[in-house]
Amino acid sequence: LLCVHNISKTFPGHDRPVIKDVTFCVYPGEVLALVGPSGCGKTTTLRTVMGFEHADAGEVLLGEQVLQREKTFVGPDQRGIGFVFQDYALFPHLSVLENVLFGLRGAAFKKRGGPAMTRRRRAQIAKEALWMVGLMGLEDRMPHDLSGGQQQRVALARAIAPGARVILLDEPFSNLDPDLRLATRNEVRMIAHRAKMAVVLVTHDQEEALSTADRLAVMREGRLVQTGPPEEVYNSPATAFVAQFLGRTN
Ligand code: ATP
Repeated sequence: LLCVHNISKTFPGHDRPVIKDVTFCVYPGEVLALVGPSGCGKTTTLRTVMGFEHADAGEVLLGEQVLQREKTFVGPDQRGIGFVFQDYALFPHLSVLENVLFGLRGAAFKKRGGPAMTRRRRAQIAKEALWMVGLMGLEDRMPHDLSGGQQQRVALARAIAPGARVILLDEPFSNLDPDLRLATRNEVRMIAHRAKMAVVLVTHDQEEALSTADRLAVMREGRLVQTGPPEEVYNSPATAFVAQFLGRTN
């Protein structure tokens, strides 16, 4: 569904690329975990897929649609990709429902039928998204009345409400306590499988990646060093670095 081919990016003033020839695909209903040590280029990869960064080379495809290739560059709002980044930043002065409705404004909203879509219809779509993440009944709550995990789910609902088939998650569980982390990551996995969404999950937590992902992509110094099902990568690490990163001692 989402395919990235050989994307590279060097920031101005840097002599080394932050990402180099990164290639991967993610399919409907699949969670791909992008893992690697701090600074290896995970966030930059997601930002490039999202269109927040312009890759110097390579291409990004969503199904048949070219999002980036040579002179073609589709802006973030037109990509039809949802994202929840590290600080999930709900609007504190907006209710849960209003936060999700915010995801249905502007370009994303126009894509689904333009001005003809009534507020009522948008509220219905927002409520469906809240139902998907298990937050029915909390529409009128304010963010500060919610637990960290619930806030995270609102951010997820806001990302999926516009009908995105691909969701990018950057360390979405990092602010949660261990129990909530576990519950929320299971939830993400279920939603991906149930709604046939393709999810790219960035984490530096090996255990989280191994237990949440359908496939792992291990990154080091801007390059993907191994991609495969978690058990395969764990049992047959391609390099000593992968073995060490995944906590294999032998
Ligand atoms: P972490 O797990 O710590 O978030 P990461 O793997 O997501 O790390 P990135 O955030 O992609 O890594 O950063 C990779 C490298 O690129 C870092 O050395 C960072 O300092 C550098 N970098 C990121 N964004 C920019 C930018 N806008 N300008 C210059 N350098 C940048």
